[in-house]
Amino acid sequence: MNVDSYEKILRDRQRELYRRLHKIEADFEEPRNPDDDDRATERSNDEVLDEMGQAGQDELRAIDAALDRIANGTFGICVKCGREISPERLKAVPYTPFCRGCAAAL
Ligand SMILES: [Zn+2]
Repeated sequence: MNVDSYEKILRDRQRELYRRLHKIEADFEEPRNPDDDDRATERSNDEVLDEMGQAGQDELRAIDAALDRIANGTFGICVKCGREISPERLKAVPYTPFCRGCAAAL
């Protein structure tokens, strides 16, 4: 796959994450029912939303950084050791900044 294909995958994923994050924020803003007795369930639902939001934001940051690397021509190069990241690894995780060896050493 060439860089253009990765850029398309990254941008599609970015759009999808933005949609998901905006939906999560909209859910947070919905008014609560004050007569709701089921507070424990409500709280654990909030925690799930929180985690999804955090993971989504982390992924978005990683995608932004990958798009920056595409823009300045360093996409596919490990940011830590400067070696090429294997195509298999990029196919699995297109926004990864690390080669397999560096990711394993983190
Ligand atoms: Zn590396």
